[in-house]
Amino acid sequence: MPSGFDALTGLLDRATFRRKLGALEVGGAVIVLDVDRFVRVEEALGTAGGDRLLATLAERLKSVAPPGSDLGRIGDDDFGLLLQAPAHDAVLVAEDMRLALTEPLEIDGYELVPGMTAGVAVLEDGDPADVLLGRATAALARARKTGRRMGVAGPRPIAGGTSDLALECALRGAMDRGEIELVWQPIAAMPSLELVGFEALMRWTHPTWGAVSPARFIPIAEETGLIVALGAWAAEVASERVVAWSRLDPDGTPPFVTVNVSSRQVFAPGFVEGFRALARRPGVRAGSLVIELTESTVVDEPERAARTLTQLKNDGFRLAIDDFGTGHSSLGQLHRFPFDILKVDRSFVAAMCASQQARTVISSTIQLAHALGLDVVAEGVETVDELARLGALQCDKAQGFYLSRPLPDADAQRVLRSGGGRLLRPARRLVAA
Ligand code: C2E
Ligand code: MG
Ligand code: MG
Repeated sequence: MPSGFDALTGLLDRATFRRKLGALEVGGAVIVLDVDRFVRVEEALGTAGGDRLLATLAERLKSVAPPGSDLGRIGDDDFGLLLQAPAHDAVLVAEDMRLALTEPLEIDGYELVPGMTAGVAVLEDGDPADVLLGRATAALARARKTGRRMGVAGPRPIAGGTSDLALECALRGAMDRGEIELVWQPIAAMPSLELVGFEALMRWTHPTWGAVSPARFIPIAEETGLIVALGAWAAEVASERVVAWSRLDPDGTPPFVTVNVSSRQVFAPGFVEGFRALARRPGVRAGSLVIELTESTVVDEPERAARTLTQLKNDGFRLAIDDFGTGHSSLGQLHRFPFDILKVDRSFVAAMCASQQARTVISSTIQLAHALGLDVVAEGVETVDELARLGALQCDKAQGFYLSRPLPDADAQRVLRSGGGRLLRPARRLVAA
């Protein structure tokens, strides 16, 4: 390989690419392309597998790069393209290149659908050319954070172990194969312990691995963008339950249903519209659907989050902040968002019997939430002691194994039907755990 070129791919090496970048004229552009989840490929297939992927991608990039452009390998799994001014629309070129890469390929038994995220920057008058790479890279990082897709895909059976890559491949088709379900965890009012709502929780049962914990597959779904489709499906099923359950007792107050949404969903296009469409369905009352978000969703991009949440709120949905106390937000920031419900994280509930400090945190959280007009739900209530202490602190609602585990559909219905109204006698379990 002559000097100035990358040995693996035959593209310009980083130093040469940067030299050429320095000579770019106004209107010229740089496109940075970063392989999605490359670390995961290397983790599963080793550096040899990773190199093979990179070499293949480089070949594909060469075949679609516009004539006169310069293509380089500018990082381990980063490619760069220089477009001289202003013959090409850089955004269209970037999109073409990204799409050209997504043809599936097989490496060591994994069927990969390679994905790349692109960042584009155009040189403007007065800018030194060497800031362009940083800008394109920053644009790429932002794009990725707000849900640009693609990656490594199956589905195909994969022998041995459940690496994240194997999980990711299997998860891709799991919904279509009917492996994903929702279970429903009752939420009870205090102190009556009347059943007032359910939280929808996702379950994945893989044909050979069995139950895969949400703690394992939800982050992968978020990373890959699969959560957008999974979450939309969950919201739809939840809205169907709202309607079905309200028919069980037409004169009573129907139970509300809460659905969890990830930040990846909130900032994906069509999020608000999706919920609006659900609210327009016959029998659905927006107020019976509660949207649960974690603190990190609102903390990372507060202005954008506040705008989106306000739209949902104006449509009549109720909003809950989930796992409160685990993130970075403080009580003082709560008023900036239109939440209706605050869910105290179960780590505080678990600590409250042993720790005066945990009791103080919960107590002041409840007081401030009430001052702001929020309802407080304690999560993860496992003992009658916890329940009693939470009652003494004026906590409004409780959810946890002491009251009931998450229930399959049929059991949730049975609980709703039992006892006429949904009132349960104090201190009696809703359902034996
Ligand atoms: P989360 O939203 O905070 O859900 C409550 C979790 O606490 C559930 O775990 C529930 O089974 C568990 N739990 C309830 N009561 C108790 C208790 O008394 N003791 C203990 N130790 N645990 C209790 P799960 O179902 O494993 O879900 C874990 C997390 O995965 C959820 O936390 C949520 O963040 C996420 N998740 C679940 N379903 C979905 C979904 O449909 N969409 C999204 N985006 N995330 C979901
Ligand atoms: Mg939740
Ligand atoms: Mg929670």
